[in-house]
Amino acid sequence: MKYISTRGGGAPVDFLEACLAGLAPDGGLFVPETYPKIAPPAPGETYVDTAARILGAFAGDSLGETDMLRLCTKAYEGFAHRLVAPLVEVGPGRWMMQLHEGPTLAFKDVAMQFIARLYDHALAARGETMTIVCATSGDTGGAAAAAFAGLERVRLVILHPHERISPVQRLFMTTTGAPNVTNLAVEGDFDACQAMVKQMFADREFADRVRLSGVNSINWARIAAQSVYYARAQAALGAGRALQFIVPSGNMGDALAGYVAARCGLLDGFELVCAVNDNRALAEALEAGRMRRSPAVATPSPAMDITVPSNLERVLFEASGRDSDLVSGLYGAFAQSGEVALPERVRGPLGCMGLSARSIDAARTHDEIRRSAAETGWLVCPHTAVGMAAARETAREGVTQVVLATAHAAKFPETIEAATGRHPNLPERCAARLDSGEVFERVPSDLPAVRDAVERASVI
Ligand SMILES: *Cc1c(COP(=O)(O)O)cnc(C)c1O
Repeated sequence: MKYISTRGGGAPVDFLEACLAGLAPDGGLFVPETYPKIAPPAPGETYVDTAARILGAFAGDSLGETDMLRLCTKAYEGFAHRLVAPLVEVGPGRWMMQLHEGPTLAFKDVAMQFIARLYDHALAARGETMTIVCATSGDTGGAAAAAFAGLERVRLVILHPHERISPVQRLFMTTTGAPNVTNLAVEGDFDACQAMVKQMFADREFADRVRLSGVNSINWARIAAQSVYYARAQAALGAGRALQFIVPSGNMGDALAGYVAARCGLLDGFELVCAVNDNRALAEALEAGRMRRSPAVATPSPAMDITVPSNLERVLFEASGRDSDLVSGLYGAFAQSGEVALPERVRGPLGCMGLSARSIDAARTHDEIRRSAAETGWLVCPHTAVGMAAARETAREGVTQVVLATAHAAKFPETIEAATGRHPNLPERCAARLDSGEVFERVPSDLPAVRDAVERASVI
């Protein structure tokens, strides 16, 4: 089982190499050389068993079966629901898959809890350590902090824009109490944080010295771990039944995992709607066949305020018939001009992959939060509401819909209260932990200062 770059550079690498590297050395994204055929979950199989089987198929020889089962057991034992990703019926033929049962109440826990253990295991085997740096405007930082806290081989440094993220989201990152987690509150915006992370990676000397790595949504381990719950949904709702998945999308990692599950034979038919907010980049690409850089728009669903959906590159690679020259050319042109039209030989196949997109604006998102509460009693988070609204628009007679609920409403209390007048309470398991003291270091929005802090953190 080997992984190659969407841009064609470098030799094929194994699963662990691809996951530890994150981005391929030529700037492309890793994809499997061929998609393994994986059997669907057997009746009675637990979530952990399914995860170990699917992730085992992606890992190939690079990880033993017993090790994989142990990593998956550890990853999912902290989830509040025994099914990890339970389904609830919210209307005739419409289900919501609850992906927020993990420690930080967002779907990112599902992949991050696994990847943290994977890193620790792989690094211990090699006798190495690594410094993971991530910029966050929302759920990623908290999920990473919870997952990596206390692990031996990894130092985690999280950059968040000071006083520009919600208090609940900040608390999830700053209260781990773990010595290997460093929180930097940067006196700048999210783009400044992300730009500095990119600059640190581009400085090869620095990156090698502190052994820099990233776990953002292009990391193959995240995609692989997310494909598991698609397989579980298919098995739970009945083999042979065609499902339409509606996925609140930003960088498209979650949606791509559905495509991957389908390619591995884990889904019976494949139809997936990427639900986006007013940041319409994904809709433009899938519907109009165009990539165009535009400024980010602030919306009630901030985790989806993404202007360049990074995992789209993997989709374009497949749509082009795995033509890495074409993909390199497209992204080269896009980097130059900020705009590129997809050629017909990509657009044609792209239209036949089962992927589409719907954009839902802020007013409709608020409306959907209110409507969902009234009709089902569930308080849904603003991201999930974008998905629920898109589901109403794309509903067809006889088609079963599965809306992915990507975060718990309690992470966005202001929006939920404004829409419904109800206050979403944090589950008790989180409330207690978030009461412990916060630890973060305030730094100026200045590369040398941030690099210094990362360097100090790397040698703890
Ligand atoms: C990250 C996130 C998304 C978007 O997921 P992608 O994989 O980037 O498309 C949606 N909802 C929530 C709550 C998130 O945290």
